[in-house]
Amino acid sequence: MSYDDNNIFARILRGEIPCRKVFEDAHTLAFDDINPQAPIHTLVIPKGKYVSMKDFSEKASDAEIAALWRAVGKVSELKGIKDSGYRTLSNAGVNAHQEVPHLHIHVFGGGPLGPMLVKKS
Ligand code: 5GP
Repeated sequence: MSYDDNNIFARILRGEIPCRKVFEDAHTLAFDDINPQAPIHTLVIPKGKYVSMKDFSEKASDAEIAALWRAVGKVSELKGIKDSGYRTLSNAGVNAHQEVPHLHIHVFGGGPLGPMLVKKS
């Protein structure tokens, strides 16, 4: 999957589409998912043009990588779920059903989240 400058998160980063911002710093933006799958569902994205974790871990600077994970922790605090529990997830590629080709970390919480995956035989 190659980077598409017109993907929806690139447009959010350019301010062309609104979002409900949770947190922002020089390298990272966090905002609520438009179609939440849990009482709390926030997305954390790098501002740089990275499609997947593989892409990001190879090409991003140490500062960008640190900022992304610090933002995930910050979101858990800002959303009040750091103690009650939360789940982070990042889909990459077709088998994982990645819809938006800009790296994003889902942060779910706010209630029991059920099993991690539905087991397939
Ligand atoms: P993926 O399937 O790629 O891991 O997740 C993409 C996520 O982006 C989905 O949970 C979807 O609801 C969310 N999403 C898609 N379009 C928008 C949008 O315009 N705004 C926001 N806030 N989230 C979006």
